Amino acid sequence: MFVTELRFECFADTSIEAAEKAINNFLEALRANGQVLGREFAVAFNDGEFRVRLLIPERSSLANRYNSPWVKVALNGLTEAKILAPREKFIGQDINSEASNTHQPSWQLLYTSYVHMCSPLRNGDNLLPIPLYQIPATFNGDHKRMIKWQSEWQACDELQMAAATKAEFAALDEISNTDSDLFRRGWDLRGRIEYLTKIPTYYYLYRVGGESLNAELSRPCPKCGSLEWKLAEPLLDMFQFRCEPCRIVSNLSWDHQ
Ligand SMILES: [Zn+2]
Repeated sequence: MFVTELRFECFADTSIEAAEKAINNFLEALRANGQVLGREFAVAFNDGEFRVRLLIPERSSLANRYNSPWVKVALNGLTEAKILAPREKFIGQDINSEASNTHQPSWQLLYTSYVHMCSPLRNGDNLLPIPLYQIPATFNGDHKRMIKWQSEWQACDELQMAAATKAEFAALDEISNTDSDLFRRGWDLRGRIEYLTKIPTYYYLYRVGGESLNAELSRPCPKCGSLEWKLAEPLLDMFQFRCEPCRIVSNLSWDHQ
């Protein structure tokens, strides 16, 4: 991933309030399309211009060809607020984050965790994140629903990893149970992506707990009950289970590895 800076210059008298509103709307539109990562943007105003530093999946993430309908409308909104089209100044590679995928995947999966800022869509061959703007819009012109699903999944993951509140159990249930709301929504998004990309796309189901290693190794698929989902070797050193008809991958319980 990369760091870039956008500068917004006013071309006529405008109110700070109107400018801020237009800029924030533009940044939200980019975020909903996967063109920028993270959720908080520090926009600084100094010497007549606004500046913001952004984390982007690829050097070209802000290229016009990736813009969603909302991003295009938001760009017009900048003009209405009397701001020139943003100028980009590339800063460099982010030292703390992963590279984005550049290879055609033979399969894909929805996988995230509370420490990952990158796209939740991963290449199944190498686990590298696939920038969302590279696939057709999942719903209503962009990937808002995916980003929302991802932030809720991450919030649940953080609560259960912290293991410090009663919310831990409800949160764990959301990410590890096929009856949960997060599963239902994420699994539907997975199906949508598979349909749009024509690439087999799986949903990652988190697994922790369980009585013993043996019990965990003979754990059936929680959706269809099949034992055939267990693999001889874990894929990507992580996914011991993959159910083809249910389109689910899962790990051997983290308590028994
Ligand atoms: Zn199954």
